[in-house]
Amino acid sequence: MSEASSGRGPRPGVLAEQTWPALRDGHWPVALLPFGATEPHNTHLPYGTDTLLGAEVAARVAAHAIAHGTGVLALPPIPFGVNTTQLDLRFTINVMPTTQLILLRDIVKSLEPHGVRALVLLNAHGGNELRAVVRELQPETSMMLAIVNWWQTADVSVFREPGDHAGELETAAVMHVAPGLVVEDRSQWGDGAVNPSALEAVRKGWAWMPRRWTQLSADTGVGDPRSATETAGAQFMAQAVERISGFCAQLAVADPDALWKAG
Ligand SMILES: [Zn+2]
Repeated sequence: MSEASSGRGPRPGVLAEQTWPALRDGHWPVALLPFGATEPHNTHLPYGTDTLLGAEVAARVAAHAIAHGTGVLALPPIPFGVNTTQLDLRFTINVMPTTQLILLRDIVKSLEPHGVRALVLLNAHGGNELRAVVRELQPETSMMLAIVNWWQTADVSVFREPGDHAGELETAAVMHVAPGLVVEDRSQWGDGAVNPSALEAVRKGWAWMPRRWTQLSADTGVGDPRSATETAGAQFMAQAVERISGFCAQLAVADPDALWKAG
């Protein structure tokens, strides 16, 4: 499903796979912009895990929404995320939040004249917080801006312990979407154990500090991936796609001047 596009036709609503005539007319009120990352994911998942998952969820949401009558366009994923605390892990590629702001402003300006009413930032990487960026950009555009962290959209009870970075949830999702990219020998998978903060306020959660990854985890993972199954990944993703697609359908007709209104 996520193999390179050779050998199959364009997926509905996936911008990078469409021709100009296919998009010239039609009504595309909602666009999805996946935000990924390029970073190690424990010892068993690829560097592009977040980008891959974000792009796949976006493509499936577009297909689902189009099948239900709403024009949703899946934009190409942004392959780099905010990774300032992982730069000592080889070949992690970081982009700064301020760079994301500049890039997003250009993308918003490009979409604006073409009837897009809402842009959903479909985030797949915890370091991409994006709220400050949206708070800064929203007053500059009439387009509705929204953020969806895809991993928070569905019911995690399908997992024993969903985990965080390269944990059970993410591992199950990659097993479903790109099984050939998951290290087959499970004895090679790290346990994703994390060291607690040395500071009590941070442990209790009322103080927050960015986590220095090489101090936090021996295998770069956060959360034990070893109970992951393809079935749970498929179930979770199907529910996520359905929910995000429903949100897009609502955005397609929502009145931006009455988003907070009783009844
Ligand atoms: Zn990830």
